[in-house]
Amino acid sequence: METLKPSNFIRDIINHDIKVEESSLSRVETRFPPEPNGHLHIGHAKSICLNFGLAAEYNGVCHLRFDDTNPTKEEAEYVEAIKRDVKWLGFDWGQHLYYTSDYFDKLYKCAVELIKKGKAFVCHLSPDEIRQYRGTLTHPGQNSPYRERSVEENLELFEGMRRGEFDEGSCVLRAMIDMSSPNLNMRDPVLYRIIKNTPHHRTGANWCIYPSYDYSHPISDALEGITHSICTLEFEDHRPLYDWILNELSLFDSHPKQIEFARLNLTYTVMSKRKLLELVTGNFVAGWDDPRMPTISGLRRRGYTHEAIRKFCEVIGVAKANSIVDIALLEHCLREDLNQRAARVMAVLNPLRLVIDNYPEGLLTEELDAENNPEDSSMGSRKIPFGKVIYIEQDDFCEQPPKGYFRLAPGCEVRLKHAYYVRCVDVIKDNDGRVMEVHCTYDPETKGGWSKDGRKVMGTLHWVSVEHAIPAEVRMYSHLFIKPNPEDEGDFKSNLNPDSLITLTSAMIEPSLANAAANSRYQFLRHGYFCVDTDSALNMPVFNRTVSLKDSWLKGGKAK
Ligand code: ATP
Ligand code: MG
Repeated sequence: METLKPSNFIRDIINHDIKVEESSLSRVETRFPPEPNGHLHIGHAKSICLNFGLAAEYNGVCHLRFDDTNPTKEEAEYVEAIKRDVKWLGFDWGQHLYYTSDYFDKLYKCAVELIKKGKAFVCHLSPDEIRQYRGTLTHPGQNSPYRERSVEENLELFEGMRRGEFDEGSCVLRAMIDMSSPNLNMRDPVLYRIIKNTPHHRTGANWCIYPSYDYSHPISDALEGITHSICTLEFEDHRPLYDWILNELSLFDSHPKQIEFARLNLTYTVMSKRKLLELVTGNFVAGWDDPRMPTISGLRRRGYTHEAIRKFCEVIGVAKANSIVDIALLEHCLREDLNQRAARVMAVLNPLRLVIDNYPEGLLTEELDAENNPEDSSMGSRKIPFGKVIYIEQDDFCEQPPKGYFRLAPGCEVRLKHAYYVRCVDVIKDNDGRVMEVHCTYDPETKGGWSKDGRKVMGTLHWVSVEHAIPAEVRMYSHLFIKPNPEDEGDFKSNLNPDSLITLTSAMIEPSLANAAANSRYQFLRHGYFCVDTDSALNMPVFNRTVSLKDSWLKGGKAK
């Protein structure tokens, strides 16, 4: 990990601004401006880490601003979920919580200002006509026939729009810039549109005209004194408009600098809120926080730590070119983190009974010592009960082992983790020839799982005492999509992985997990990292597999 050098060209820009503009740039102020039309995803985490991270680095502040200018898609519920997720990632906006809707009055006044300057006009072309008049990348656009309206008429019409005198879609307010600009965003873009009969989650029915993103964003930034307005690459072509609006208004002391960076894309998932919403409403997943979702709430429920997500965001760096990051890198960051913090426990996912013939029958339970985390001795140890009958994994036994099989087989000896060496002496099968029970003898001289004579065994198995085992449900999650790029061809939903969730309901876990707290994380020895969920329909403890142990990032030789 340490060899990966994250780049961040935005830091270089800020450093330059501080040096060159010493007199004017005395502080750094950034913002994270989500639209409350869905839940945040890991891509947003990149933007959050970047904006809050840079502010912290320069002793500045980062605002959380809800960009709530479209009541048809936005909900108060999303606002709360977004706040929860940003907090969970460990960031604090302090006093700086804002809503674009708080600026509706000011934004309106600015629009009136533009009209008075002859820089905006009310246009009665239909949305389709506006599109036709706009032209293309190779052909200039045409002026709207309504462009020549007088300032007085425009002021009156805009006021009429505000009062609700026009139908939705019948007219808009547009900037008057240049219909032949090579930049389509400069061809008289829409500043205000009419949205009726949809109450806004904060302003109710006060407004029936709503500002566009391109119009409201620079003004909101300037009103808040943002110094660096960091957004994703698709807004690069919008920057001239961002600057045009601020220059025309010249109402503000500061002129924030818009800087674009590449959005995060991850393999085996989709990232846009629209697509994620489609998965939720189509019941392809069990909600926004389904542990297979790339949402912050989904990752949290899956067992991700905020530390792992933040580390990932740091390691991927910030670049100017779009790319797709291998999800194996995210999982690698997660494993590195969980390896340090997760207690090791034993859980048998597909149990097979193993009887130790020479183990004494007795009333007393033998308690064995088990370290909680070999990576961290301060996590201590616990006692685990052993017994004459234990569960091992079905696939840890093979009657006719292939070459290179290093687990239990007839006549072979293995180590039971923290316990004893056992040797297989017999196999009991049902009428169909299925193995029902394995019989072994144990060597009492190997307590703790070590022999004094240093003899080698086939392997080390995890186990759970039958008498003390607790039944549990274990949800084995894997990638939501079968293709690295689900959007490659056709409908992304046709690339959903049918095996992204496999539920095991006959797992057996060690008794120390009986009261494991919700969201606590463990390493099930040899299986991976698991996190406690709480929505059991079967009244059993539930564990979500967070991630397996096999690190395909390291295996791929991508990190040294
Ligand atoms: P989506 O396309 O997923 O709906 P969005 O850009 O419409 O995302 P917003 O709520 O408008 O979502 O985004 C808030 C901020 O998060 C914006 O500054 C946006 O640039 C940033 N952001 C969104 N998606 C990503 C991503 N995949 N990587 C990095 N930043 C992102
Ligand atoms: Mg958006």
